[in-house]
Amino acid sequence: MDEKFDCIIVGAGIAGLAAAMILARNNMKFLLIEKGEFAGSKNVSGGVLWGSDLAKLVPEYWKEEDGGWERFINHRRLTFMDDQSTFSIDFKSSHFNETPYSGVVVLRSKFDRWLAGKVQDAIDNSDYAMESFIATNIKVDEVLMEEDKAVGIRTGDEEFHADSVIIAEGVNNLLTRHVGLQDDYVPADHMLTGIKEVIRYDQKVLEDRFQLDGLSGMSNEFVGFATDGVEGGGFLYTNRDTISLGLVAGIKDMREKEKSPHDILNHFKNHPVIQDTIKGGEVVEYSAHVVSSGDKRVMPKELYKDGILLCGEAANLLMNAGKAIQGMDYAMRSGILGAETIIKAKEKGDYSSNTLKEYKKALEDSYVLKDINNFQDAVHMLHSPQMYQDVPNLICDFGRKFFTIDDEPTKKSRKLMSESIKKHSSYWDLMKLGFKGAKSL
Ligand SMILES: Cc1cc2nc3c(=O)[nH]c(=O)nc-3n(C[C@H](O)[C@H](O)[C@H](O)COP(=O)(O)OP(=O)(O)OC[C@H]3O[C@@H](n4cnc5c(N)ncnc54)[C@H](O)[C@@H]3O)c2cc1C
Repeated sequence: MDEKFDCIIVGAGIAGLAAAMILARNNMKFLLIEKGEFAGSKNVSGGVLWGSDLAKLVPEYWKEEDGGWERFINHRRLTFMDDQSTFSIDFKSSHFNETPYSGVVVLRSKFDRWLAGKVQDAIDNSDYAMESFIATNIKVDEVLMEEDKAVGIRTGDEEFHADSVIIAEGVNNLLTRHVGLQDDYVPADHMLTGIKEVIRYDQKVLEDRFQLDGLSGMSNEFVGFATDGVEGGGFLYTNRDTISLGLVAGIKDMREKEKSPHDILNHFKNHPVIQDTIKGGEVVEYSAHVVSSGDKRVMPKELYKDGILLCGEAANLLMNAGKAIQGMDYAMRSGILGAETIIKAKEKGDYSSNTLKEYKKALEDSYVLKDINNFQDAVHMLHSPQMYQDVPNLICDFGRKFFTIDDEPTKKSRKLMSESIKKHSSYWDLMKLGFKGAKSL
């Protein structure tokens, strides 16, 4: 295979698959290379794919018998926990029952594989049905550069040539560093370990327990006890007949506090409320993956250079500002925008950074960089110990007193709140946090 491709995409995660779909639909000749046995075999997400970009890639995906996704979200919950209690903000609405859904739960090994099948269908219907490929079980070792411009990739002894390369390698930024778009590894204080168990139930038990109707589903984020004093948070998402239960915990903080992800997950599962929630389920899968904190300060120096674009988490496009982890939607949109830029570059016959800079502009105009820029303060705030320790303890302390009725005169809520604040924080600290919160959200 010594012919030249229009584009080589490295990584068949969400970003790479989205880019491939757009290239196939626009009759581009490309090679998508994935190191895993199949697309999704190496990927872990909680995970909810937010937004409606999926409907752009696979129109009316919800009509398919088994559309790769598990359930649509119409019930959201944010839970604060101390060692005995939980206090939740709970929102459920039939407004979310409408298609295209605003969030669908996915299991990546199933979802990515299904999406790769859709990309293959698009290739089969394109002008390059016999010349574009999805190649799995192959690791890209190097992006080939000539005069600081990408001209292809090397895998083992083989070289493949192309006018452009989309790096969609995810959080491990090996190639991104090799091509000089990032100086170093992302430091450990900007990385979290995500661990997840998939727990199976009888489907009826699951639906009754979480009040699910048809394919409706629930997403629940947890702050406080869940991470045993380590920076991060927990999550629970309902799948068809399983739940995904897990957490993300700061790598540096975990190391300093001498805690392991496995121990923290067990700690989380031993909370009395979580024990009740997961009762009767069987753990059928355990997985772990690194995820970025989404701090803009560790973004690559640039998201493009001659012949190269960075998409998805390779470009550190991720945000965890408290109410959800968002990475898959940003990966999908950036893959789409990246591919559209490559199509324009082919039309102009110019793959230099002069054309590829349009990609950055498109990202800036989209929700991706707008969100990431707008919510940086919230990202920083979420990583302060006050947010994952004092605040959940204070809220649960107040909740316990507020909901307790005994044979003492009932105190006014303001008095109860004041007692809880004094016990777990101070008015001054909370005021500072409140100001920061109001500014950041
Ligand atoms: C525990 C956990 C929970 C999460 N929950 C959510 C959630 O609920 N919602 C959400 O939106 N996001 C969530 N995320 C984040 C989300 O998973 C990522 O942001 C998203 O997967 C990034 O997509 P991507 O395509 O950029 O990278 P990836 O999905 O990581 O894909 C990269 C692909 O590139 C391949 N690859 C890498 N290097 C090479 C190479 N040299 N050669 C060939 N192939 C290569 C990999 O095998 C992989 O398939 C979560 C992450 C974790 C870890």
